[in-house]
Amino acid sequence: MGGHLALDFANTVDDPEGPERYDHAGTYPELVGWSARIGVLRPDQADALLGAAEEHPRASFATLRRAHALRRILIDMFTEVAMINSGQPAGTERLTPTARWAELRPFVTDAIAHAQLAPGDSMYQLTWPETTRPDAMLRSIALAALDLLTSPQLSRLKKCVACPWLFLDQSKNLSRRWCAMSVCGTDEKIRRYVSRRAARRRS
Ligand SMILES: [Zn+2]
Repeated sequence: MGGHLALDFANTVDDPEGPERYDHAGTYPELVGWSARIGVLRPDQADALLGAAEEHPRASFATLRRAHALRRILIDMFTEVAMINSGQPAGTERLTPTARWAELRPFVTDAIAHAQLAPGDSMYQLTWPETTRPDAMLRSIALAALDLLTSPQLSRLKKCVACPWLFLDQSKNLSRRWCAMSVCGTDEKIRRYVSRRAARRRS
């Protein structure tokens, strides 16, 4: 929905401050399930991690906490960029690029430290041979975040006008406003229709 792995991970909480809050990565099995659905983990790898998590609950809980820390970093960092992209004030708590990088770097360093370079069809790709590490999914997400941060695509990053979700606007004239028309676009349209009608009644 966000159009990028790093944003999809940042968007794993529905209605973050509202009554219908739902965290799609709220527990370790949910984090693994989400990662398998989105293709970050292979199905057999996800099964192996879920099996290992039952034997090593502390390791999987530590991974869950790191995952939530990484998500917080991505949300703060990319929301700030999205606000700047749309000409809105980015808030008073802006971190310097150095401070942002200090937060993200341990995740990127860990990903690179354990990676191997494997030949693909027309280019090389990073792979992680030890597939049973409980935090295997965090590596791809951390590198995806670095990739977006250093890509020209970053200028297309936006925040939905109706919810906190982030997305890449791939429309030609940068006119997209909602994370998904079917979710927030419709809600927003109904809201505007209702307030227009209310205004007409008042006048
Ligand atoms: Zn939305």
